[in-house]
Amino acid sequence: MATIDIKVPDIGDFDEVAVIEVLVQPGDTIEAEQSLVTVESDKASMEIPSSHAGVVKELKVKLGDKVKEGSVLLTLEAAEGTAAPAPAGGDGEAQAAAPAASAPAAPAAGPASGAPSGAGSRAAGSSASAATGYEGATDMDCEVLVLGGGPGGYSAAFRAADLGLKVVLVERYATLGGVCLNVGCIPSKALLHVAAVMDEVAHLKAAGIDFGAPQVDLDRLRSHKDKVIGKLTGGLAQMAKMRKVTVLRGVGQFVGSHHLQVEETTGDGQEKTGSKQVVQFQRAIIAAGSQAVRLPFLPEDPRVVDSTGALALKEIPKRMLVLGGGIIGLEMGTVYSTLGARLDVVEMMDGLMQGADRDLVKVWQKMNQHRFDRIMLNTRTVGAEATPEGIRVSFAPAQEGGEAPEPQVYDLVLQAVGRSPNGKKIGAEAAGVAVTERGFIDVDVQMRTNAPHIFAIGDIVGQPMLAHKAVHEAHVAAEVIAGELQGNKELASAAFNARVIPSVAYTDPEVAWVGLTEDQAKAQGIKVKKGLFPWTASGRAIANGRDEGFTKLLFDDSPEAGSGDGHAGRGHGKILGGGMVGTHAGDMIGEIALAIEMGADSVDIGKTIHPHPTLGESIGMAAEVAHGSCTDVPPARK
Ligand SMILES: Cc1cc2nc3c(=O)[nH]c(=O)nc-3n(C[C@H](O)[C@H](O)[C@H](O)COP(=O)(O)OP(=O)(O)OC[C@H]3O[C@@H](n4cnc5c(N)ncnc54)[C@H](O)[C@@H]3O)c2cc1C
Repeated sequence: MATIDIKVPDIGDFDEVAVIEVLVQPGDTIEAEQSLVTVESDKASMEIPSSHAGVVKELKVKLGDKVKEGSVLLTLEAAEGTAAPAPAGGDGEAQAAAPAASAPAAPAAGPASGAPSGAGSRAAGSSASAATGYEGATDMDCEVLVLGGGPGGYSAAFRAADLGLKVVLVERYATLGGVCLNVGCIPSKALLHVAAVMDEVAHLKAAGIDFGAPQVDLDRLRSHKDKVIGKLTGGLAQMAKMRKVTVLRGVGQFVGSHHLQVEETTGDGQEKTGSKQVVQFQRAIIAAGSQAVRLPFLPEDPRVVDSTGALALKEIPKRMLVLGGGIIGLEMGTVYSTLGARLDVVEMMDGLMQGADRDLVKVWQKMNQHRFDRIMLNTRTVGAEATPEGIRVSFAPAQEGGEAPEPQVYDLVLQAVGRSPNGKKIGAEAAGVAVTERGFIDVDVQMRTNAPHIFAIGDIVGQPMLAHKAVHEAHVAAEVIAGELQGNKELASAAFNARVIPSVAYTDPEVAWVGLTEDQAKAQGIKVKKGLFPWTASGRAIANGRDEGFTKLLFDDSPEAGSGDGHAGRGHGKILGGGMVGTHAGDMIGEIALAIEMGADSVDIGKTIHPHPTLGESIGMAAEVAHGSCTDVPPARK
């Protein structure tokens, strides 16, 4: 056994990083690729894996130490025959394997068969990851395996195929599209659209048009929603074919660092046929998503549903409890309420729609008060019992000394208390991929996990759990992989560096926000200049009979704002965030996101000519308000 120093490898752009976790102890027997320490920069945290298997002799670092490339992490009695190829430091020393977040460092090549040897292959000094664990037969091989066919998974698979890679996409359900297309974004929006039109039509009565009471045919509404889903998921299947992506139907489990076993499924659900295949891959992208959190004390009863059950739209209850006051619960509540249900909502926190500024939520709440019998804030749900009359739910105050309502009986209880990632269900340990206690998979800015040849994207890597985030992460992972396998440096250096990710509640009115919120600015002591344009001054909003909303933009108003970047003397600095409440707010928030990404200020936005009369105009006008040049609102008080 040779004693070697394991050193910090190339850590990309970072000069020095802090050790925030030491994952091994002297005397530990470790595998090659096993994580040794976690380090953190101001941008990301990353685990540094070992280049060799062996026994840890002595730790050379402790918590809080600052390390850089070449710092010795520990000495190791290396096991025979496990040394990485050509350690950079010569005899007796080895750099640890490429860390999870060392963006441009290329990971291990895949297993011997067909592994390309382009310029993107592993940098000298880092170890090839041994295909541990699996020694059985394989049925198929590919350059990129994507686990999960949701917005993250199919986008990654399609982008990788477009970049010329041989791709296998594994999905357990019959259709591609994941939660978003099958039981999430799309079906909920199909129903919300119907609900919004119904509400709109009801408002027309005041303008002299009366269609009478709506007749609701639930079967037809359900099949309308299913048709929308079918159109989109069918389109995905076609696009997979056109790109020659091999779609494998079944439940995937890693059985080794380069192997995934797929147990074939059939029918509408996950019924297994008993047939199994093993796919060998050079790189993998985990996009296995998330599932609704189930509260353990809720009874197994058809009257207790999650969002998927609610979207099935079996019947319209008289009394419905929305358990959790977040976006998903409030969107589904909107649909059921317009179709005739009376709503209660219970939320542990002190307000609904957490994350959005309270002034935006206030407008939504005022417009929606009529849907609710009770809005129970600061309240916990502590028990539920299935009775012939309904689900009897009991509540307790979230804080000591608070008050809670008496138990209530509901025809339907929708649990919408969040979603938990599927990280613990995919055999990640067999591939050496670290999964957090809660089931998330940590990744770096390139979407790389601690196993350098395996990437993860979408809900499984963390908040915000949104389809548009998953798609952008997917493209990054596919591009990095293509870059590494094909020796294309530009692609290999792709990174997820979006400044902001917009959020939208597709309620009525819609609430949308992006970047810094006003509440965050206050809490963090960030000085902002606000431009608020009330829709009571918008010709289009008034013409639509929906002028309850407003648009607000927040600009950097710190003393140094605008200096040194060409913005000096324009009033104040760049846009930091924005929010809108009103009809179609979700369709317009992208413009504010673009302005933030481009570093626009109030002059840039205000002088961009928006068409009149539109709701989108309110963004230009909010910028003019901040700048002091808006002529569509009363003059500023002198
Ligand atoms: C009711 C509802 C409404 C929503 N509305 C919006 C919205 O309006 N806008 C928005 O941006 N987001 C919305 N979301 C969130 C959005 O659906 C998710 O953020 C998005 O689907 C995440 O994409 P993903 O690819 O990470 O995972 P998923 O969509 O969860 O896809 C993961 C896929 O992996 C498959 N899978 C998992 N494990 C395995 C395995 N072992 N083997 C094979 N296959 C496996 C699953 O079957 C699934 O198809 C909504 C969610 C819900 C529930």
